[in-house]
Amino acid sequence: MEKIQLATCIYCLRQGVKFNKDHVIPEAFGTYGSQTMTLTREVCWDCNAYFGDNIELVVARGGLEAIERIHHGLKPMSELNQINRDRISAELGDGPMVGTKIEPVTHGNIPQVGLKLKNKEKRDHFTLNQLEGMERLDLERYDTKATNGILLGADTRETQNHLISELGRLGIRFRETGRAPGANGRLPVDYSFVIDSLTMRMMAKIAFSYSAKMRGGAYLLKKDFDEIRRFIRYDERPIPRPVKPTTKQLLRNELRGWRITDGHLVVSDAVHPGRELVAHVSLFNQLPYRIVLCSSYSGKIIYRSFGHHFDFKNKTISELYPLA
Ligand SMILES: [Zn+2]
Repeated sequence: MEKIQLATCIYCLRQGVKFNKDHVIPEAFGTYGSQTMTLTREVCWDCNAYFGDNIELVVARGGLEAIERIHHGLKPMSELNQINRDRISAELGDGPMVGTKIEPVTHGNIPQVGLKLKNKEKRDHFTLNQLEGMERLDLERYDTKATNGILLGADTRETQNHLISELGRLGIRFRETGRAPGANGRLPVDYSFVIDSLTMRMMAKIAFSYSAKMRGGAYLLKKDFDEIRRFIRYDERPIPRPVKPTTKQLLRNELRGWRITDGHLVVSDAVHPGRELVAHVSLFNQLPYRIVLCSSYSGKIIYRSFGHHFDFKNKTISELYPLA
């Protein structure tokens, strides 16, 4: 007799629920026409909505991935104000104003002061918002009396006065001695971005949904995958952590500093029983993440690794071939 199995959601393990189309690569990171990789009977409506609203939306609007979306035109300019400034910041990486905080998306001005550190050529920069929130400042750290000891970054006289009065409140007297030179040409920008549990869960979810696509959803219902499943769905964090950024080079024929693609890469490795089953995800071929899908795999040997290249520019998906 043939067994009829009820479809089960690979994330919450519920049966008899409504299913929804799940994009292996969240739509915010590109679509691929008729090739778009989706799951239709593996992820339930609730889980799909939860991931979209709570993980993908947040990561797509803040972090390295958000900057890359803007650089590659995957984010309309009209939505720039939705970028979450708590998850990304940017500063000038060189020149006389090095360290100056700039607006991460438009590279516009941010009102701030730069205070020279004692015995160093470096400055600490504080935005007006940060100054306003400060009770006190460790004055011993700074050489505010030196020439160029205090830099004010303000584009109106009003903002400048506001900065000066905040400094005064914290015990620093500002006296204008000159104007800093304007920046000549293009300066490098250093970004700081958050990699947190939301980032990790999004990467793990891509790897997990990809594995469901390549190996079948039923396969991922095994107990082996409960830890990663619960991490992705409920933020239950196992120790050791299952997701880590790595320096691993995913494409063999790519030399350091020279990238063949800006597309996304997803790879799920071959595995032997008792070993870790590992996948890698690298959005925009930037920072790769190593994801342990299960720490001690109990199934049969999987001889093949699977990998795909998601080229959002040409809207194509192509298979990656492992070199033996
Ligand atoms: Zn579910």
